[in-house]
Amino acid sequence: MSMNNQGRPTGTGTSSYAASSGSALLPNEPLLFEIGDIEHSGVDLPEVEISLDRLGGFERKSALDLAGLTEPEAMRHYVRLSRLNHSIDSGMYPLGSCTMKHNPRLNEKMARLPGFSDIHPLQPVSTVQGALELMEELSHWLMTLTNTAAVALTPKAGAHGELLGMMAIKAAQEAAGQSHRRIVLVPESAHGTNPATAAFLGYLVKPIPARADGTVDVQAVKDALSPDVAAIMLTNPNTCGLFEPQVIEIAEAVHAAGAFFYCDGANFNAIMGVVRPGDLGIDAMHINLHKTFSTPHGGGGPGAGPVVLSEALAPFAPVPFVRKGENGLELVEHAEGSALGRVTAFHGQMGMYVRALTYMLSHGGDGLAQAAQDAVLNANYIKARLAHAFSVPFGDYPTMHEALFDDSFLQGTGVTTLDFAKALIDEGFHPMTMYFPLVVHGAMLIEPTESESKQTLDRFCDVMEELAADAKAGNKERFTSAPVKAPRRRLDETRAARSPVLRWERPVEALKAAE
Ligand SMILES: *Cc1c(COP(=O)(O)O)cnc(C)c1O
Repeated sequence: MSMNNQGRPTGTGTSSYAASSGSALLPNEPLLFEIGDIEHSGVDLPEVEISLDRLGGFERKSALDLAGLTEPEAMRHYVRLSRLNHSIDSGMYPLGSCTMKHNPRLNEKMARLPGFSDIHPLQPVSTVQGALELMEELSHWLMTLTNTAAVALTPKAGAHGELLGMMAIKAAQEAAGQSHRRIVLVPESAHGTNPATAAFLGYLVKPIPARADGTVDVQAVKDALSPDVAAIMLTNPNTCGLFEPQVIEIAEAVHAAGAFFYCDGANFNAIMGVVRPGDLGIDAMHINLHKTFSTPHGGGGPGAGPVVLSEALAPFAPVPFVRKGENGLELVEHAEGSALGRVTAFHGQMGMYVRALTYMLSHGGDGLAQAAQDAVLNANYIKARLAHAFSVPFGDYPTMHEALFDDSFLQGTGVTTLDFAKALIDEGFHPMTMYFPLVVHGAMLIEPTESESKQTLDRFCDVMEELAADAKAGNKERFTSAPVKAPRRRLDETRAARSPVLRWERPVEALKAAE
């Protein structure tokens, strides 16, 4: 890269791109700033007369240094970047616990209707009656599917929903003079957000060990219950992909001890339309709309984690909520005696609500049950096809929506679960969830969802079998060097997370700083 007389990189556009690009189909995409030329602009803007005194001293002192690009250059940059990502639209994404299912295009079409996409949260409610009706309809579906008394739509993720649900439990116990209850029981197979939520709210987390068959022992729960226990946080179906066989007994024991039953509903995809969690005795449960009810997610994209609440917790729901009033639907923003107030600015993720309700209405109640059953069938198919080559930790029960393997089949091969997952990338599949749940050594958690056809499942299983055979045949190198066909090889993921470089610096400055 050459410098002009101000020490800035000159318009290196094509030369920089050509120098660093890989092959035509696997570009090594430079940064926008490296493609564009900060000396030029892609648009002609008229000089603007700026009244500096209106900026109160906050005016920019240096050049903006935006990369000057033509529209096709900018567009191609982002399209090329998007091709570097694996996505549910380009291949199977068997990431266990994440329910990476196909997002029907109809959802997108509905979410883009101007009446949903162009409204502002501060508009008068008389002008957004349709949007409020959609929220009311979605609430109705969520309460019906779960047989619960109330729902709070606003949490923006499953973890956020957990927090809200546990805040409602805490508020209910404080209102009942029970604030001495300081302990929350969490099975060892739980997702990390469960103990994190409890600890964040100041509770002591008491782990409940898993039984040898991967389920929670009702006796272990009974032994741990005491007048100091506020709640249990239980995932059902659990993170080993198993329906908790004693869930009703557990709920009864928890209630008898005066505690609440928080259910982690992230795995609702396995039972929607088939089992109503309210019938099992849950008091609060978040529903990851972005897992169970399609809506695209991953990479930190938007989610929504509404929480359904039992009769006992309904009075502690946060604001806002939708209510039928004299002049149509109204949004209750300030409820008398609302212990929690609001947990988000405005009303939550409208776009996710639209996608989720579209998914529900296009399936219908029977279609949702069918989707759950197909998801379970697909997972059991994978488990049955791979059981001979992989190691199944909990074989006593049929699995629900995900198949769990441990790493004992890799013993003596020198190949780890991580290596195995990386090798899957070279075969065009997104890796499965690794090393979770923690109760299984070297866990591989595979969730195909209902989206995948038998042909796709067979191709995936063929690849998995071939990889397992190759690992056992001693071809360690293929695994430890993988991925070799991805745009990036093995990354220092810890360093990337701990010290991310979020700011582009002009090379000359980087050079000076290094001196
Ligand atoms: C995904 C997940 C969560 C957290 O949900 P987010 O929407 O990612 O915050 C909690 N528990 C389980 C079991 C999950 O799979």
